[in-house]
Amino acid sequence: MAASGEPGRRWPAVVVVGSCMTDLVSLTSRLPKTGETIHGHKFFIGFGGKGANQCVQAARLGAKTSMVCKVGKDSFGNDYIENLKQNGISTEFTYQTQDAATGTASIIVDDEGQNIIVIVAGANLFLNTEDLRKAASVISRAKVMICQLEITPATSLEALTMARSNGVRTLFNPAPAAADLDPQFYALSDVFCCNESEAEILTGLTVGSAAEAGQAASVLLERGCPVAIITLGAGGCVVLSQKEPVPKHIPTERVKAVDTTGAGDSFVGALAFYLAYYPDMPLEEMLRRANCIAAVSVQAAGTQSSYPHKKDLPLTLF
Ligand code: ADP
Repeated sequence: MAASGEPGRRWPAVVVVGSCMTDLVSLTSRLPKTGETIHGHKFFIGFGGKGANQCVQAARLGAKTSMVCKVGKDSFGNDYIENLKQNGISTEFTYQTQDAATGTASIIVDDEGQNIIVIVAGANLFLNTEDLRKAASVISRAKVMICQLEITPATSLEALTMARSNGVRTLFNPAPAAADLDPQFYALSDVFCCNESEAEILTGLTVGSAAEAGQAASVLLERGCPVAIITLGAGGCVVLSQKEPVPKHIPTERVKAVDTTGAGDSFVGALAFYLAYYPDMPLEEMLRRANCIAAVSVQAAGTQSSYPHKKDLPLTLF
């Protein structure tokens, strides 16, 4: 690890204020019709939620991390906390509430890969500004704080405001995106990172190529963020910044993708790791490396289960 990027020993360098969701996945030969009961052939429980996914990826690369979030006081919540701990993530500010169940995503996937998903955000929506105030010690001392939109927007905005006022670099991932995103999110994001479809929703533009992503990124930049990154799946990503106002396409490696679920979260978590631990590295190099890490994640099944650990990656990425 670069000596220049060595953060304080005690405080987490990457803090995520975001969501935890338990994925309840049933595999079936076809999707059921309304009112119909069918038999599936496999069921499994996975750990998801964009916030926790990003935190897990950063932690597996070696970042000291803390997850500020809320789960239910139920067995899914208990299991989730254990999962965070097993990934070496601090759960000091992982709250449990009696008022709602742990967030869940009930997912049915058929043999063609078609799916139906119902998300109940539950306890995630109970994370509030009072919880953030209790976590102020870790938020204010982080190198990087990441937020998404799977908790209440007011809580995300408050977290970004706290980070900004303490000189903590903010990485915002506007997912799931809504066309009417509060303009304050742009102003409070040091790095604004979304995928193609989110960029389309936010800008109203079509984003099907690197050139179109560059145009969308310039719209995002005009709204006030100094750096806009749009990920393009197998196409890598495009970055545009106020410092270098010409869009730059950073392609990724050609790999055989098995399951691309959660690739964007692997990318964001990896980017947070580089921002926190290699602050002097050129942004393009950070993005090239984040592409490499996300490309590893698409070569295995599942979300968090596909995220690589430092020990399994080439030393050239560190
Ligand atoms: P999301 O998961 O949010 O839809 P993307 O599909 O844009 O996000 O993927 C995020 C990143 O993951 C990409 O920028 C790229 O680095 C990597 N990635 C995704 N799909 C592939 C793929 N098929 N081959 C290689 N890398 C991929």
